[in-house]
Amino acid sequence: MSTKANMNETPLEQIETILKDLRASFKSGKTKPLSWRKKQIEQLYKMCDEQRELFASAANTDFARPITETYLYDCGVIRNECIHALNHLDEWAKDEYRSDSLAYATMSKYVHPEPYGTCLIIGAWNYPFNLTLLPLLGAIAAGNCAIVKPSELAPHSASALTTMIGRYLDSSCIRVVLGAVDQTHALLKGDIDHVFYTGSTAVGKIVAKTVAEKMIPVVLECGGKSPVYVADDANIAVTAKRLAWGKTVNCGQTCLAPDYLLCSKATESRLIPEIIRAWRTFYTDNPVNSDSYCHIVNGRHFERLKKLIDTSKVVYGGEADANRNYISPTIMTNVDENDKVMQEEIFGPLLPIVTVRNEHEAIEFINARSKPLALYIFTSNNNLAKTIINSTSSGSTCVNDVIFQIAPPSLPFGGVGDSGMGSYHGKYSFDTFSHHRSVVYSATWSEPILSKRNPPYTKQKTAF
Ligand code: NAD
Repeated sequence: MSTKANMNETPLEQIETILKDLRASFKSGKTKPLSWRKKQIEQLYKMCDEQRELFASAANTDFARPITETYLYDCGVIRNECIHALNHLDEWAKDEYRSDSLAYATMSKYVHPEPYGTCLIIGAWNYPFNLTLLPLLGAIAAGNCAIVKPSELAPHSASALTTMIGRYLDSSCIRVVLGAVDQTHALLKGDIDHVFYTGSTAVGKIVAKTVAEKMIPVVLECGGKSPVYVADDANIAVTAKRLAWGKTVNCGQTCLAPDYLLCSKATESRLIPEIIRAWRTFYTDNPVNSDSYCHIVNGRHFERLKKLIDTSKVVYGGEADANRNYISPTIMTNVDENDKVMQEEIFGPLLPIVTVRNEHEAIEFINARSKPLALYIFTSNNNLAKTIINSTSSGSTCVNDVIFQIAPPSLPFGGVGDSGMGSYHGKYSFDTFSHHRSVVYSATWSEPILSKRNPPYTKQKTAF
């Protein structure tokens, strides 16, 4: 498959040399000392602090992304994770001594986290810095060399990332490759030891298949349709505001965005005016003119989203402007599983509402589909929330809010089933980029005991 000509692509013939250089750096042992890792993490922090205006302006050029959203959800989040990693790295990187039953008392044993070598990080475009630099932080913390392949769909962000990674980080150990399908496949087929992929489920499967050939471990952070169930007892004003925010932050182009809504007819009619009120407060009656409202990343996704809008079902919004890849916040009602908008991940500002009579119908609807990246429940009854959690499966769940379960570094972030495998953030990032090697020192004085395992297997030896 050939890629669209792009001046900024890394020439394919350079990729082998880049990987060779990284391999040599890893072999030299340079990335293993904690002092090197900490220095790089400090530099990553500094980069996200000093270059936040450049990063925000690049993402704004790429998809009219509000400056504040890059400040908060890319630069801010990465800085917080850097601080967390710096505070905990000594403890994460320690060998963990283990004790077992008396049967193993003759062994001294521990788990030794060791880096894989060269880690490939394939990023998505929608949070262009967060989705490349947070995995990179994990790779560095664990003592790896890394190669970052940002998405070609946000070229200005990718270019800013390349320049700044070159300026702030150790380029003998950390490199960026720019490009799309061809560059990604050249990397996947190259001399790498681990892959961390963020993107669609369809491409995730291609990535996993490609590296399966060489038994390379892979983490897949994918997407899907994350449902929201709003129970009749939910606080409607708060629910509406939080849903309105989650559906339109980054213009709905968030992997964890609430995709569709399940609720009763009565709750639907209380919720809709409140969601509209929230959107008007956020973006005025003319979101197209709002600096706080992001646009769709490109013409292909704009056209895809337009096709998902069934105008006969739109009760709010539905406006689109192809010149600016703009789609307004939109609500659709009387939606059922056969509607186009229910056939794929929306990844845009469209909110379809499917009515159900109760939580049992909601659970049935959710369980009839792929396991989502997130499941959201709005209710004032924690027991009801627990029942739904225990009857379903999802990468994560947030009760009475959306998306924010991603924020605390103490929690793993990742999918399950079609929404992905593996997780990261906080210590989970360190663990994801480490091989946990079991090490046992066996005492020679234990030979009289251990020799019982040796043949011949007499009756006395097998009597246990
Ligand atoms: P995408 O799958 O189009 O691209 C992801 C990456 O894969 C890019 O770097 C791209 O260059 C590369 N790629 C594309 N086609 C390829 C191919 N055939 N072979 C090898 N590599 C290929 O995804 P996207 O449009 O950038 O992002 C949107 C999707 O990502 C949504 O489904 C969203 O839910 C998901 N996502 C998931 C997370 C998460 O953390 N779970 C975060 C952001 C986005």
